[in-house]
Amino acid sequence: MEKRWTLSDFEIGKPLGRGKFGHVFLAREKKSNHIVAIKVLFKSQLKQSQVEHQLRREVEIQSHLRHTNILRLYGYFYDQTRVYLILEHAAKGELYKELQKCKYFSEKRAATYIASLARALIYLHGKHVIHRDIKPENLLLGTQGEVKIADFGWSVHTFNRRKTMCGTLDYLPPEMVESVEHDASVDIWSLGVLCFEFLYGVPPFEAKEHSDTYRRIVEVDLKFPSNPIVSSASKDLISKMLVKDSSQRLPLHKLLEHPWIIQNADPSGIS
Ligand code: ATP
Ligand code: MG
Repeated sequence: MEKRWTLSDFEIGKPLGRGKFGHVFLAREKKSNHIVAIKVLFKSQLKQSQVEHQLRREVEIQSHLRHTNILRLYGYFYDQTRVYLILEHAAKGELYKELQKCKYFSEKRAATYIASLARALIYLHGKHVIHRDIKPENLLLGTQGEVKIADFGWSVHTFNRRKTMCGTLDYLPPEMVESVEHDASVDIWSLGVLCFEFLYGVPPFEAKEHSDTYRRIVEVDLKFPSNPIVSSASKDLISKMLVKDSSQRLPLHKLLEHPWIIQNADPSGIS
């Protein structure tokens, strides 16, 4: 879709939601009848908050990704005052709302989401992209209930760093040689947090005070609530993702082979 889009190519439908900067509408592309979501952002607001750079990166990264569990960004256009993003329509809305409704998910549903997300992250990391902001608010659901990663506002492309490092590797200290590889493991940690939250309805290091959450994270103060009762296999998996030393976190391809995933995840990704 290398076409130059304009607003007149779309019939705008009902509002789907609003975020910090954008209003999102259901829309239909007139020629193809294709249903999409259009996110409208005001240039003035983007400038004021100095996020134009972030948006450009988000568009640049997300528009090149093709994976069932990653929300497609088909293209963008703009006029005098606004920027429009043409997004895949996630028909079943926000995962966050589902979690609020159910309080917590069944192990089957949680494992299905986690496996789908692991596959999406393997794809992303293979393209040298790190998401860095995996959380329920950034996950949407497709027609079949399949999970889709949205919101690439904090993502980075590590390829440039890797490339520039090639020539100078001889002089780099271990922490820098290793950093590129290990950067991707931030997403494994977040996936571990997410898995806990799916099963218990609350994130693992929650505390009243910000400083206490901080301390609990740094100490990896991981305690499993007694309610609801969840399998020890799921706890085993979470414990292998929430590891302080980022190089020791369970690699995503191993996660997919973990007994809890094998026993619970629906291979179709539908839950
Ligand atoms: P921000 O990250 O800027 O605070 P946000 O992520 O909360 O914003 P947006 O991405 O602007 O929100 O989207 C606002 C709301 O619109 C979402 O919470 C979601 O309910 C809905 N929405 C956004 N994109 C889509 C989409 N592609 N399909 C269906 N609904 C969507
Ligand atoms: Mg968001």
